Amino acid sequence: MDFELNDAQRLLKDMAAEFAARRIAPVARQNDIDERFPGDIVKEMGDLGFYGGVIPEAYGGAGMDYIAYAVLMEEISKVCSSVRTVLSVQMSLVASTILKCGSEEQKKKYLPRLCTTEWLGCFGLTEPDVGSDVQHLKTFAEKTSNGWKIDGRKIWISNGGVAQLALIIAQTDRKDSRKMAAFLVETGTAGFTAKDMHGKLGLRSSNTAELYLDGVEVPDDALMGGVGDGFKVAMTALDNGRYSVAAGCVGIAQGSLEASVAYAKERHTFGKPIAAHQLVQEIIARMVVDIESSRLLIYRAGELKNAGKPNTKETCIAKYMASETAVRCANDAIQIHGGMGYSNEYPVERFMRDARVATIYEGTSQIQKLIIAGFETGIRAFG
Ligand SMILES: Cc1cc2nc3c(=O)[nH]c(=O)nc-3n(C[C@H](O)[C@H](O)[C@H](O)COP(=O)(O)OP(=O)(O)OC[C@H]3O[C@@H](n4cnc5c(N)ncnc54)[C@H](O)[C@@H]3O)c2cc1C
Repeated sequence: MDFELNDAQRLLKDMAAEFAARRIAPVARQNDIDERFPGDIVKEMGDLGFYGGVIPEAYGGAGMDYIAYAVLMEEISKVCSSVRTVLSVQMSLVASTILKCGSEEQKKKYLPRLCTTEWLGCFGLTEPDVGSDVQHLKTFAEKTSNGWKIDGRKIWISNGGVAQLALIIAQTDRKDSRKMAAFLVETGTAGFTAKDMHGKLGLRSSNTAELYLDGVEVPDDALMGGVGDGFKVAMTALDNGRYSVAAGCVGIAQGSLEASVAYAKERHTFGKPIAAHQLVQEIIARMVVDIESSRLLIYRAGELKNAGKPNTKETCIAKYMASETAVRCANDAIQIHGGMGYSNEYPVERFMRDARVATIYEGTSQIQKLIIAGFETGIRAFG
């Protein structure tokens, strides 16, 4: 369902689909098995301008609108969510946040490098003791005479082991959690180390790392926004990130649907294709309805973003719906494939493992529901 894509959006969709089929699909299974980071593919995507995202051309970006950006995420994710994760983190959590919250110097210094993939970026919010409850971070930034000294530990950081730039959220006042701040930390700085995490259920060819910041000294101009803006910067990043996760989830669900339809037409039981059995058609119909609903919710949030209007509630609704849809559709796809769905000869078991994280990261489904209900009732149940 293309929902009246314009010529530029359709062109991007075709380009992304062609690239995904030619370069990503043939290696996705083996990269998943080997936990191999697809650095070569990331570089080629940078050369093609896919990493330009919604960043304006003046900063080296592609100036896409948010519907085009969602279409790109969907096409890449339809084939491999690990590759989509690298792109999402770089463009939504890091580059788009710098665009919205960074100084002119920070934009000029970092955005062109991120848009070409000369540098990769990561977003460090989660800590061993703090995930959903972001107001109680332990990473601490202390003011020094000529900058800041940061100490702390981050966990589950996508791109963390391959990034040159880390957007780190830290406390600056042990007694006042409202004094959070955001810092752009170059990962080559003394005291900064990353340790790759292994054994993940899915997204196995994306990089996930623990970050250790031991007395990392950064200059004053590493601060993004002011002291006290850290929470706002983190929420801006998540508003961007949840949008690309949602679009990626529609990709997983659409990939699951297409694989299911193909298999159901090919596989015969009781003298006919399984696609002709009414209970199989019921599964497929539910997938279609959930996918098209999710996509429309994403485009609604995207139109609000295009218009520069508030969209936190609509983005949370889209992320909640699309992530739950991806998990359901990937699971349904395994069911339709029967025993073969349980084997990595078909991509649907990878789709299921990759989908599973989407109801957890960038705010769990429970947190999305609390935000949505908070808007509806005017009562905040957390934070
Ligand atoms: C593969 C992967 C990649 C990730 N990438 C990044 C990244 O790039 N950067 C980053 O900063 N983080 C990243 N994360 C971390 C992710 O955002 C967190 O795991 C997530 O926010 C949940 O935090 P938690 O794991 O600490 O769970 P917790 O906050 O401990 O939650 C555990 C459970 O309790 C529930 N819960 C918590 N509070 C409430 C409440 N008030 N009401 C109801 N239920 C509640 C949650 O919904 C969840 O089910 C990543 C995680 C994974 C797995």
